[in-house]
Amino acid sequence: MTNLVSMLCDMIEDSGKRALVVGMGVSGIATAARLRRAGWTPVIIERAPARRTGGYFIALFGAGQAAARRLGILDAMHNRTGRDVPADLDRTGRSRPGMSFADLPGEPWIVLRGDAENAAYSTLPDDVEVRFSTVPTAIEQDDDGVTVTLHDSAAGTSVTERFDLVVGADGLRSTVRRLTFGPHANHLRRLGYMVAACGYPGTPPGLAPGQGATLLEPERSMWVFAFTDHEPTIMMTYRTDDVDAEFTGTPAERLRAAFGPEPLGIMLEDVIAAFEAADDKLFDSVEQVHMDSWHRGRVILLGDAAWCVTLYAGMGVSAGFMGADLLGAMLERHPGDIRAALDEWERALRPHIQYYQDNAFDDRKIFVMDNPWEIRLRRFMPKLARTRIGALIAKRFLRPEVMERKCTDIVGDVLAKLPTPEHERRSVA
Ligand SMILES: Cc1cc2nc3c(=O)[nH]c(=O)nc-3n(C[C@H](O)[C@H](O)[C@H](O)COP(=O)(O)OP(=O)(O)OC[C@H]3O[C@@H](n4cnc5c(N)ncnc54)[C@H](O)[C@@H]3O)c2cc1C
Repeated sequence: MTNLVSMLCDMIEDSGKRALVVGMGVSGIATAARLRRAGWTPVIIERAPARRTGGYFIALFGAGQAAARRLGILDAMHNRTGRDVPADLDRTGRSRPGMSFADLPGEPWIVLRGDAENAAYSTLPDDVEVRFSTVPTAIEQDDDGVTVTLHDSAAGTSVTERFDLVVGADGLRSTVRRLTFGPHANHLRRLGYMVAACGYPGTPPGLAPGQGATLLEPERSMWVFAFTDHEPTIMMTYRTDDVDAEFTGTPAERLRAAFGPEPLGIMLEDVIAAFEAADDKLFDSVEQVHMDSWHRGRVILLGDAAWCVTLYAGMGVSAGFMGADLLGAMLERHPGDIRAALDEWERALRPHIQYYQDNAFDDRKIFVMDNPWEIRLRRFMPKLARTRIGALIAKRFLRPEVMERKCTDIVGDVLAKLPTPEHERRSVA
């Protein structure tokens, strides 16, 4: 645990309030740690039998870094940005210098999802109870609290418990959302793209150790993300007219079909074989979550469960940290009024998350372009950016206003502008 966080934990004054946090991804862990710091007693439940490791490439932009710093999480992470110029490949093996993620304005930190989760976990006080293999099966609330039935799938038992607050941080297909806000179909919005990701053991053929790569074609792309001190991860993403059909057959079959009918070439063959062999992999459709409100009574959604902005926005982890950071601050501001805290939390956060969501489809073009012209323009961009006029064009292309929202300390700005809460004003007077 970092010094700052352990110092703060020593100063915790118990509020006597109990929170159930559902899901042990970045959002759930960061929220539980922040609630504990605010004097709450969180209980985390996680469907999986243990904490997951590894994961895929994550860019952590300034807004997320600032929240992670306040949460004590950033100190437990390091930037793994690779310094080598990535290769821009085609199927024949032809290679030219490509663009790196680290070239994006704002200099995002490059980490693995597991880094963010481990760092958040390191700030979780030892007295926070974690129950694995456990899911909620019923949620009912009244004015005074929430009654939740919890099923332990390892023991085959269920218990019913009372909480002051329930936080659904259980991802895109959230059970808390389904039980409290209705079926997935009411809230999930498909973008018409698929994503596959996994780790890659060693160095892919044709690349130097530590070198990343892209293979960009209209409506489909393959990425090798390199890190300074970790094996690479790979990602493939492509457009589809029929998301349901993508879930028939094996993921590797779907990938071969999506990147066909042309011969795959050495690199794609190798990467799809690595995906097939990987124990820990992700194959899913790219979907956003849209909700009129992220909270109902004492049940709140946070992270992908509430607002999934998608990988294309590059802000999912950052938004999870921002949500946890602000939630803790709002509960501290309104110690006796959970509803006021949740209202103020959502009011402050929503415009920024909405912005990431609204721009995610355009941000997609960083990863997967629509036509050969966009790919050519993308290749030309680094050369163009070296000229004065070109730098101006490149700046517009990268939409500085979007980058600014990703890179500024959104939660810090919100907190700085808040008026002193009534109870503090009274105690000063
Ligand atoms: C390929 C890829 C690349 C990405 N790149 C970036 C990037 O560059 N930058 C960025 O910021 N974001 C990126 N993202 C998005 C980011 O990974 C997510 O937004 C983030 O991990 C969401 O965290 P979460 O904790 O909200 O949800 P999740 O990570 O989905 O965690 C949910 C947790 O809840 C558990 N759970 C689910 N159901 C239940 C249940 N019923 N009961 C109990 N537990 C349950 C799950 O097992 C899981 O542990 C990327 C995503 C992908 C797929």
